[in-house]
Amino acid sequence: MEIDSLQELLVEEMRDLYSAENQLTKALPKMAKKASNPQLKKAFETHLKETENHAKRLQQIFDKLGKKPTGKKCAAMEGLIEEGKEMMGEDMEEDTMDAALISVAQKVEHYEIASYGTVRTWAQLIGDDQTAKLLQQTLDEEGKTDKLLTELAESSINVEAAQA
Ligand code: FE
Ligand code: FE
Repeated sequence: MEIDSLQELLVEEMRDLYSAENQLTKALPKMAKKASNPQLKKAFETHLKETENHAKRLQQIFDKLGKKPTGKKCAAMEGLIEEGKEMMGEDMEEDTMDAALISVAQKVEHYEIASYGTVRTWAQLIGDDQTAKLLQQTLDEEGKTDKLLTELAESSINVEAAQA
């Protein structure tokens, strides 16, 4: 398929993100189940709800553009989730597993932050402020989640894993 404008590239990248969010919707419950630290479990459950909303927000943008969000598979998210699955299959002490889960989740969040930052900027550049605003809302939530994970890691989970 030929992509001959930034507008079309934006649409393609948002399709990629729509796939990423939907894949994550299936992975997060498994991560929440695997987490032992109650705050980490809660963080995954909260972000699951946000993630469902991220997919809805993209759907909203596509509705507005009169286009379909489906038809693309995010290979990057597939790979990150695959790595996460491998990690969860390892025989690990609870605290160590929590530290591992945070590392998986932060790789995912950083991928999303990079992607949403890019599409938000493209939307601004082509003058689609409404889309840019919606993408920014999601970007803010991804950033907040990433920060929370860092706090959980630094305040207790990594420390407990180091002592395990
Ligand atoms: Fe998301
Ligand atoms: Fe996220």
